[in-house]
Order: sequence, then C-alpha cells, then structure tokens
Amino acid sequence: EVRIQGVSKSFGPLKVLDDVSLTVPPGSVTVILGQSGSGKSTLLRSINHLERVDDGFVAIDGELIGYRQDGDTLYELKEKDILKRRVDVGMVFQNFNLFPHLTALENVIEAPIVVRGASREEAAARARELLARVGLSEKADVYPRQLSGGQQQRVAIARALALRPKVLLFDEPTSALDPELVGEVLDVIKELARSGTTLIIVTHEIGFAREVADRVVFMEQGRILETGAPEAVFNAPEHPRTREFLAKVL
Ligand code: ATP
Ligand code: MG
Repeated sequence: EVRIQGVSKSFGPLKVLDDVSLTVPPGSVTVILGQSGSGKSTLLRSINHLERVDDGFVAIDGELIGYRQDGDTLYELKEKDILKRRVDVGMVFQNFNLFPHLTALENVIEAPIVVRGASREEAAARARELLARVGLSEKADVYPRQLSGGQQQRVAIARALALRPKVLLFDEPTSALDPELVGEVLDVIKELARSGTTLIIVTHEIGFAREVADRVVFMEQGRILETGAPEAVFNAPEHPRTREFLAKVL
C-alpha cells in the first residue's frame, strides 16, 4: 500500500502541492489526470523522495520514504539510506532516461548490481527475463540510440522492474513517442496491470485510463479535486473543472 498523507510542497511562493492525501492499495492501478502545472509530476517525484516535501509524508507498506520518525518529528534520512528505501519505488519518465553508453541489458542490470550487490550473472539472468517480458529479447546487446522510442521506453520499464519495486510510477510514459509507438508501450503497462503490479500513472491517454485504471484522480492547482472509478469520473464527473478538462482531452 502506498499512503500519501497531507503532502504539501511549495516552490518559493508557489504552492504546487496543497495537502494531498491518497492511498493506493496493492495491485491497483491509479491514473492521475490534470492540466499542465497542476502538480502531477511533483506528486510522483514526492512519492520517490526525488522532491523533499514541506509537510506530510509518504509511506509504503507502513515504511516512511525519505524520513525516519522520532516521536512526533520526522527527520530526513541520509542520502545512502534514502537510496536504500527508494528501491521500493520504480519510476519511468517521459524521456526514457536510459544510460546512452550502456546496452539494453547493461541498463537493466546496473541497479541490481550497484544497489543490491547482485552478481553480474544473477542480474543478467533476471534482466533477460525482464527484457523478454517487454518483448525485447532480441535487443539485449543493443545501445539505446539503436532502438526506437517505444523500444527504449520498454527497456526503461524493464529497468524499473529490476529492483522488484512495490510500486511503479509512470510520468507521461508515452507523450514523447510517435503515435504509432504508443500502443506497444501501453500494451506492456497493461500486462503489468493485469499481473497485479501496483501502478501510479500520469497520462493523457484517456482510452487507456478507462481500460486499466481502478481509480482516476483529477488534480488541479496542487489539489485532488475529484477521485473515483473511471466510469464515474469519465461518464459523470462531479466537479465542473473535471468536466471542463475532460471536454478538452476526450
Ligand atoms: P505537466 O502536465 O506540464 O507535466 P505537471 O502537472 O506535471 O505539469 P509539475 O511539473 O508538477 O506539473 O509542476 C507544478 C508547478 O510547479 C508548475 O507551475 C511548475 O512550473 C512548478 N515547478 C515544478 N518544479 C519546479 C522547480 N523545481 N522549481 C520551481 N517551480 C517548479
Ligand atoms: Mg508533469
């Protein structure tokens, strides 16, 4: 379970997250929607402690991310301990962010070796399984520049799975892709959803959200305005701002 509790975050005078609370049950798929600037990426980054929040906390299966608690006070962990805790959270970015000088396989084995201390053989065996899972068995020894955007993103997904995270975060995973490559990436995410991986996905792909989301969250100005099952939010949005937003993207 991912528990986001009362999270607030400002950049200077700009309040980007305003008392956001959300609980994501294990094995569920949550899709976050909202206009540009509504705080979606900042929320995802806070889950990972890539962003230090001003207030509130994030816990995964009861374990705080980025902090330790002493009485009523939260203390930020040291960088090394933050990294250890962060293995519970995998993240896939819009622009793939693969290491350009490493092959697909090397991209996937890097974290297990460095963070987990896995042996190269053990990490490579698991990486081959993961590359097969995203349909890229044939591309293990190829460099990112030799791959299409869709293939690069599938390597990035395999890489994010390599540490066996408890939750996988996707920040607009298909928005940098040519339209004909979007489907192959969404298919991989759908397979993860079916297999019970806990997913939190920021996307503008409404058809996909309708199909895979257990819950849709609509954000505006750093707040959650509306949340519900996809049928409810898409067919009968309660909040006028949700309606306006959907009218634009549907
Ligand atoms: P988009 O759909 O365009 O990706 P978003 O919903 O992901 O938007 P965020 O990236 O979370 O929005 O940004 C929310 C607000 O915070 C924006 O106004 C943005 O300009 C601001 N912001 C984000 N990161 C920083 C930063 N590091 N420093 C200052 N302002 C920031
Ligand atoms: Mg964003």
